[in-house]
Amino acid sequence: MHDHRRLGRELDLFDTDPLMGAGLPYWLPDGAAVRHALEEYVRDTERRAGYRHVYSPVLGKRELYEMSGHWSHYSDDMFPPMDLGGEQVVLRPSLCPHHALVYRSRAHSYRELPLRMAELGAMYRSEPSGVLGGLTRVRAIQLNDAHIFCTPDQVAEEADAALGLIRRAYEVMGVRAARFRLSLPGPGGKYVADPELWRRSAAVLREVLDRAEVAYEAVEGEAAFYGPKIDVQVADPAGRESTLSTVQVDFHQPERFGLHYTGPDGAKHRPVMVHRSVIGSLERAVAHLIEVHGGAFPAWLAPTQLVALPVSDAEAERAAALVRRCLDEGLRAQVAGPEQGTLAARVRAHRLVPYQAVIGPKEGADEISLRLRDGRRPGTRQVGEVLSRLRRVVDARAADLLDEAA
Ligand SMILES: [Zn+2]
Repeated sequence: MHDHRRLGRELDLFDTDPLMGAGLPYWLPDGAAVRHALEEYVRDTERRAGYRHVYSPVLGKRELYEMSGHWSHYSDDMFPPMDLGGEQVVLRPSLCPHHALVYRSRAHSYRELPLRMAELGAMYRSEPSGVLGGLTRVRAIQLNDAHIFCTPDQVAEEADAALGLIRRAYEVMGVRAARFRLSLPGPGGKYVADPELWRRSAAVLREVLDRAEVAYEAVEGEAAFYGPKIDVQVADPAGRESTLSTVQVDFHQPERFGLHYTGPDGAKHRPVMVHRSVIGSLERAVAHLIEVHGGAFPAWLAPTQLVALPVSDAEAERAAALVRRCLDEGLRAQVAGPEQGTLAARVRAHRLVPYQAVIGPKEGADEISLRLRDGRRPGTRQVGEVLSRLRRVVDARAADLLDEAA
């Protein structure tokens, strides 16, 4: 495995600037392309799974976090409040309070449940400066978040489905879970007090893990302050684990925000909130993908999917036309011309690009010689045929670079 910080800089994926501040990386175009592809995957997957997306602001009033419980249980990890016209506003430490307010803003019937609300939104964490680095320890986090408001009877099925989304996403990304963890409360005042609710929530999550037939370990002291969670752990090159994805059951915040829905009996009932993240934060997900793939991303994630390699200046116009066609097809492509060195040197420089299209005097007007990153050489092909095959591989988010034997 590779160190994402070193590769991130070498491959021009992301960087930091002391003037922006430590723990506040910015994304260069190639890193942004990877992130964008992941975001599209997440939104598409969630939409198909019945989620609706919202946008909510990254700031909230201090009172909001007092109400949610973050202020009393989580303030050590929060940025200090800003004074603004006699009020205090805070960079949000999580999206849940905003989503609870969005839910509360409209009346809901049991017929609308489970109501699945998703957002790829920013949140902030006041990590101490000593631990900051790369994309894994940052102060600004873009989270693939969602909250499912449901009846107590629907919790297990929703948590189950969320775990299914996580496992499918790992397959598509080529990522392996190091461990499933059932995170329970530990001693100390970090957790909201209600032993009966903790017991109920943990029982549901155990049931979900058992049904998924995955080995897991129960660990005390790793729960969220409002409830237990399933954490999906991944390992970095040094074997250090971190949490990428989670599924959490929360009876606490619906209570704090006075959320309700109208039941079939016409009376008001309290929903449960299932918090879940499929790929976690975009920062941590991309860091892990860089390390797992060493920069050789699956075709659907690759910053450049096809590089056009004209043998000489005589083929420059055909190479430019090929790239224009790729862009039209929604593929990410660029020309690496003779000014960048010999053909061999250019092939080497772009060895992480999944598809290399050589254009020389031997290829006909509408032909390219296709080479794959993995060493396969489908050889001379019609441009139209190649592009529709690449489109199929990318659309299917396939792990293999070709959809059938070449
Ligand atoms: Zn949440």
